[in-house]
Amino acid sequence: MKLLIYLILLVFVGTSHAHAWEDFYILKPGQLHFERTVSQKFSHFSQSDCRSRIPQITCVVNPAQNPQESRQCQEDSSSAAAALEKIHDILPPKLQKVFCGLDVIYIENELESLAYAGIIQADAQGNVRGSFMGIRRALVEQNYDATSVLGWKEQKAFGIKAPPFVHLPEGPRVDVTLPASLSALHYIIAHEFAHILDFANSANNFICPEGVTCNLSEWNPEEFKKLTPKDGSWSALSWKNPLEPLPEQKFPLWSKLCFYGCSEQLGLEDIEAFYHQLNPTNFVSTYAAVSPFEDFAESLTFAVMAEHDDFQYLIQTPYASYSLEAKWRDSGPKKIWMQDFLNRDLKYPSPLK
Ligand SMILES: [Zn+2]
Repeated sequence: MKLLIYLILLVFVGTSHAHAWEDFYILKPGQLHFERTVSQKFSHFSQSDCRSRIPQITCVVNPAQNPQESRQCQEDSSSAAAALEKIHDILPPKLQKVFCGLDVIYIENELESLAYAGIIQADAQGNVRGSFMGIRRALVEQNYDATSVLGWKEQKAFGIKAPPFVHLPEGPRVDVTLPASLSALHYIIAHEFAHILDFANSANNFICPEGVTCNLSEWNPEEFKKLTPKDGSWSALSWKNPLEPLPEQKFPLWSKLCFYGCSEQLGLEDIEAFYHQLNPTNFVSTYAAVSPFEDFAESLTFAVMAEHDDFQYLIQTPYASYSLEAKWRDSGPKKIWMQDFLNRDLKYPSPLK
């Protein structure tokens, strides 16, 4: 978790390296390499019809060691497009347009996480040139329901190691109904697109306050904690700095919240207290409390899902039950901020080709 934030922040301060973490990549121009299939190469490449791009940018791939490796799209790549087109059709127009800025959607034959997204940062000012995403192939082909996938992920935070996407009785129970009862893929794509829109539009924005010296050239949490959220940014709603929530949003068990690569983590004995403590904060979900970036991605996803009356997201512990979609609908300033964001004339990455 801490590493993840470090990597994001290094990008903000203009390092020349490419960085990767489990959920988001930031590459420099010339670092995204892939070879389309023969039929994709010879088809007309649409810059404006975002739906028709989907079969052209869908790329089934074997695992790669790093995001800069050259990747060969397998011949059956376009067959994965139908599932993505179905998700495209239910997304609001502002999210449909993200498909137009994507250079490639990797359908990963093997992937440890659920999905990831990435951008190509064109210059030190943070302008975004192209973008890409990757999804675990099973999620595209097997129509897994949101309850199984999101429940499996939720239980990871409590140290439960179950095969994908099994939801064990000893962990918190998650019950999710997505609009039109679509599969987990709907939620996952909205979440990843939200990361792309965050970076392309500087929704999260931290600055070094005037009169303060912030030495961000190497990893020192104390230096990063000197950054403050820019007035009016998404970050200012819940975060004191990129590493810590505002005091009124922080709760005792927050310090143990971790999903991947954790040195310390919540355990089964924390379930009841954790949700009791999370409930009064303005974080819409467990994952939203991890970092400003996940806070934005989760909140945008809730904003999009909650446009449909049939959306439900329930968490149950042995003694309590929490309706997250109701929490979002009552979330006041964050809901308003997100609605304003979605009404803005948003910036999109321009695809490389
Ligand atoms: Zn994420």
